Amino acid sequence: MSLREARVSLGAISRNVETIRAATTPAQTMVVVKANAYGHGAVPAARAALDGGADWLGVVDLDEAFELRDVGISAPLLAWLYGAEADYAEAIARDVEIGVHNLEQLERVAATSNRAKIHIKVDTGLGRNGASVDDCDELFAAAARFEKQGALRVTGLFSHLANIEDEAQVERFERLLAAARAAGLDPEFTHIAATGGALSLSNNFSLQRIGIGAYGLSPYDGPAGIELEPAMQLSGEIVSVKRVPAGSGVSYGHTYITQRETTLALVPIGYADGVPRAASNRGPVTINGQRFMVAGRVAMDQFVVDVGDAAVKTGERAVLFGDPATGVPSVQDWATAADTINYEIVARIGARVTRRYVP
Ligand SMILES: *Cc1c(COP(=O)(O)O)cnc(C)c1O
Repeated sequence: MSLREARVSLGAISRNVETIRAATTPAQTMVVVKANAYGHGAVPAARAALDGGADWLGVVDLDEAFELRDVGISAPLLAWLYGAEADYAEAIARDVEIGVHNLEQLERVAATSNRAKIHIKVDTGLGRNGASVDDCDELFAAAARFEKQGALRVTGLFSHLANIEDEAQVERFERLLAAARAAGLDPEFTHIAATGGALSLSNNFSLQRIGIGAYGLSPYDGPAGIELEPAMQLSGEIVSVKRVPAGSGVSYGHTYITQRETTLALVPIGYADGVPRAASNRGPVTINGQRFMVAGRVAMDQFVVDVGDAAVKTGERAVLFGDPATGVPSVQDWATAADTINYEIVARIGARVTRRYVP
C-alpha cells in the first residue's frame, strides 16, 4: 500500500447517486465532478456517477470538461466558469454546454458556432456569478434573438443558492423563468439546487446539481438526513515509532509536550497533502481501531500521533477519516478540528496522495 492513500469506493459514489435520485423529484440529476471530483478523481468518479444513474456531469472549467471528453465520456456536460481566454470553439465542438452569465459572453458564444448549447446563469441572490436580475430582460431578449437566427440553443436556465432553503431565491428564479419564457425562450433544463437544496427544497425544477452528496458527505453541518456512504478513506503508513520520556516536545514550536513516557508514531501526510495545519493537536486518527489525536503541529509532509502505550508498529496504518460506520473518524471530524467544512477537507487532498479505487 502507498505511503499516503485515499481509497475511493466507486460503488459508494454510484449508490449515493442512486439514493439521492430516489429521494428527490427532478427528472434529471447532474453530478458535479469539479475540482477533481472534490479530490476523489474526476474520471473514475464521473464514471461511477453515471453508473449510479447520473444524467449529466457538471464542472467549473472547460479544462475539466475536456479531461472527461478526452477519455471518451460522452454524457451531457455543463461547464460554468469562463475567463477572457475561454475556448468556446472547442467547447462547442466537444459538446460541452456553456453556462452564460452576461451579454458579452453570449455574443462571443453566438459568434463562435451555431451549434452552441447554453444554460443562462442568473443571480437570484448568491451575489456571485450569474446575470443580475436587472440585466436578465436584455440578456433573455438577446438570447431569444440568437436562437431565432439559429446561432445557438438555450437548453437551460440556472441559479445557485446562498442558503440551502432560500425560498426567496427560488421565487425569484421562478419569476425569471417566466420572464425567459415570455421572451420566447424554452429552456428544457431548469436548475437551482445543489445537494442541500435538493434534499430540502419543495420545488426542485427539472434538473439538480449534486456534488458533496455523491461523495457521501452531508451538505449541512449535521447529518444529511438520508443514508449516504462516505466514498473516501484517507490513511497513511506509520513510518516511525519511538518511545520518548515525559517532557518531550513534539513538532515545530513544541506545542505538544508529552505528559509521561509514551510512544510517538509518525504519519507521512501533511498540509501539502491537504491535512489542515489548523487541525494541529486536534485532528483524530484511528490506528488498529483505536482512536488517537494529532500531537503537535501538522507539518508540510507529516504529523505525529501520541499513542501512549499502544503496541503500534511501523507499517501499520493511521486512518484519518473514512466512513464513520466503520469506526474511523469522519471527514466532518476533521472539518470541525480545522474549523472548516467537509467540502474543503476532501477537495484539498493533494496530488501526492495515491488514489486507490475499489468497487
Ligand atoms: C459546486 C457546485 C454545486 C455542487 O454543490 P454541492 O453542495 O457540493 O452539492 C452545484 N452547483 C454549482 C454552481 C456549484 O458550483
